[in-house]
Amino acid sequence: MTHLADQTGQAIFIKSGGFDVGGGCHAFSTREGGVPHGGQLEGSLARFLAAAGFPAGCTPVPLRQVHGNQVHTIPPGAHRSQVPTADGAVTSRSDVILLLQTADCVPILLRDATSGVVGVIHAGWRGALAGVVARTLEAMASLGASPSSIRAAIGPAIGPCCFEVGEEVAAPFARLSPALIEGQGPSWRLDLPGAVAHLLRRAGVPGEDTRTVAACTRCRTDLFFSHRGEKGLAGRLIAAITLA
Ligand SMILES: [Zn+2]
Repeated sequence: MTHLADQTGQAIFIKSGGFDVGGGCHAFSTREGGVPHGGQLEGSLARFLAAAGFPAGCTPVPLRQVHGNQVHTIPPGAHRSQVPTADGAVTSRSDVILLLQTADCVPILLRDATSGVVGVIHAGWRGALAGVVARTLEAMASLGASPSSIRAAIGPAIGPCCFEVGEEVAAPFARLSPALIEGQGPSWRLDLPGAVAHLLRRAGVPGEDTRTVAACTRCRTDLFFSHRGEKGLAGRLIAAITLA
């Protein structure tokens, strides 16, 4: 359900088909549109946002992501003074762009077009187990969103083909759903995008309104950055959403 868009011959970003129905803009970068290893977000962001069609004049809001469960609400009228430490962010403002940076972890973009609320979630296995998905949806609800009218787009992330985990990680996810774990111990493999989709459904987001980029970052390092596939020397993929 996704398509690749090219700008000047380079694949810079991916959009989930139909996700922007009702307004707004979203995109997931490829590695070409992302932040190279050792680079700064500011060096790549303007090109990515312009190529993906984001409106000019919106303020991008990055997060300092720490694999936790803190959610930052962009307050009305406030001016960004420092980068918030959080793995989720929500807003009802139409003049900001919520941002994530990932390389194997799952970027999730959320929109309730009815109430005019958007959100982002950075979900690695730690944050997923710590409840960052449910906490972000609660923060959206506190701005007036309803889970049943939220659409979700799950971006490029490490797939169950490649994400080997130990039993201490496999066991809690298997308790969520045995289908999230593949393989045999001690080489368990976790379906992290599947786990995120499961957590979204459990929080009331309709499964039929959740779209997943079916591409593994570690299998496709030609197209994406992969922390595991590039031995910690990966750059960062950007994910972005705005209401306007
Ligand atoms: Zn893979």
